[in-house]
Amino acid sequence: MALNPADDAFAARLGALLPVGTLRPLSPRYATEPRGRFRAREGIVAAPASPAEVAAIVRACAAARVGIVPFGGGTGLVGGQILPDGPAPVILSTERLNRIRGVDGTEDALVAEAGATLAAVRAAAEQADRLFPLSLASEGSATIGGVLAANAGGTQVLRHGNARALCLGLEAVLADGSVWHGLTPLRKDNLGYDLRDLLIGAEGTLGIVTAASLRLFPRPARTATAWLALRDPAAALALLGRARAALGDGVTACELMARQGFDFVAETLPDIRQPMTPPPAWALLIEAGGPAGFDIDAALEAAVADAMAAGEVADGVIARSGAQRAAFWAAREAIPEANRRIGAIASHDIAVPLAALPGFIDRVAATVAAMGPFRLNVFGHAGDGNLHVNLFPPAGQGRAAFADRRAALTRAVHDLAHGMGGSVAAEHGVGRFKTGALARYADPAKLAAMRAVKAALDPLGILNPGAVLPPG
Ligand SMILES: Cc1cc2nc3c(=O)[nH]c(=O)nc-3n(C[C@H](O)[C@H](O)[C@H](O)COP(=O)(O)OP(=O)(O)OC[C@H]3O[C@@H](n4cnc5c(N)ncnc54)[C@H](O)[C@@H]3O)c2cc1C
Repeated sequence: MALNPADDAFAARLGALLPVGTLRPLSPRYATEPRGRFRAREGIVAAPASPAEVAAIVRACAAARVGIVPFGGGTGLVGGQILPDGPAPVILSTERLNRIRGVDGTEDALVAEAGATLAAVRAAAEQADRLFPLSLASEGSATIGGVLAANAGGTQVLRHGNARALCLGLEAVLADGSVWHGLTPLRKDNLGYDLRDLLIGAEGTLGIVTAASLRLFPRPARTATAWLALRDPAAALALLGRARAALGDGVTACELMARQGFDFVAETLPDIRQPMTPPPAWALLIEAGGPAGFDIDAALEAAVADAMAAGEVADGVIARSGAQRAAFWAAREAIPEANRRIGAIASHDIAVPLAALPGFIDRVAATVAAMGPFRLNVFGHAGDGNLHVNLFPPAGQGRAAFADRRAALTRAVHDLAHGMGGSVAAEHGVGRFKTGALARYADPAKLAAMRAVKAALDPLGILNPGAVLPPG
């Protein structure tokens, strides 16, 4: 069903419904995304300050058949927040919906509006002596609405799950402008279909999240963090097994990084202090949290010592202070920014079953090497089987010269992951970047059900047109 553009006449009608200052012109902030692959050319930006204003905007768009692109922090990596073509949409920014509505210590729950940044939510939880565990390098800008819409993962999934697992309830505006009041602190509620789980991960195509009720956890009294030089990627899994045997589900993070990433950091971010110089071929950052009275450092050290005796770990440093721990994480989190500065030809966000992870790394290296002199940077949340596989031009050359190879490289990486029982969209979602991959790799019954859900909940197709579902 064709949509209409948000033209001047529509802008005037919409402006009359909303407080002065709610509408703004399209500026670069709302038109670009971190990887520079998508650019919005036109659209009206609306920044509502209440769920009622969001509902008014959605009703007006439904009546006029104008598309709406929800926009949080703009840090999404698959272009879901940017509409590059088609009729001009309303870009609905949640930046003024940014209050922490409350923290409830009895329920261990926090209610935040969609535009609150992840960092603000983490800080509010900490102020209440609780932990909100979702943690991403983009957390200073990424919003609660955005991380739920993307079902973001990050570094703590091993222990606490994706964003979905941390959400108890939602408040959202549906495509007809009705408001769903689902901000419950309940852990148990089986009264009908779970609309919350449908909206989480829907990337703004089924509803607009205006607030969320989030799970809080006790803050670990003690944290142990180690930076290790590994024999090979298989050693990461062996070490994870040893750490879990010693620490149970206290293991919160297990990040695998190839040397290429550290070379890029040294080249582009020389102020970042690297935990080991020269960097090892494979490094692992492993972290665990535990209660007071349990010597977590000793338990992690014992697991590492066993791994060294078995030849899995060649060298290791245990953080002796908060500052050293922060330095380890700064080195890990510098890798995406260093990648961005070098300029990837193609970036991939895959997951494979844990047992397949070492074999996948070997096979992807061989496959890419056979396709040309590309530099390969593999890093990610190995404890979840989630790896970022990013391909770069040879040293001294720009990525533009290899643009025509991008599709073939991506196809090769995705075919490999899919063929090994993996996912080609592990944590960043589909957006507009992977609609083709969804069409190629999704189970046909699932794809048909997704289309039916979209048609039922957004019959006019106004919510984030062109995102997630391939044209069908
Ligand atoms: C440096 C960096 C590191 C990152 N690291 C990770 C990582 O470790 N793990 C990970 O999973 N991701 C990571 N990401 C990507 C991550 O998905 C985003 O940071 C975050 O989830 C998106 O939040 P946002 O507020 O910026 O959303 P946006 O980019 O604004 O939007 C993302 C999607 O959500 C939709 N959306 C936004 N707000 C709403 C709303 N209120 N209701 C409905 N739909 C909405 C948009 O339309 C779009 O489809 C990283 C990104 C960067 C730049």
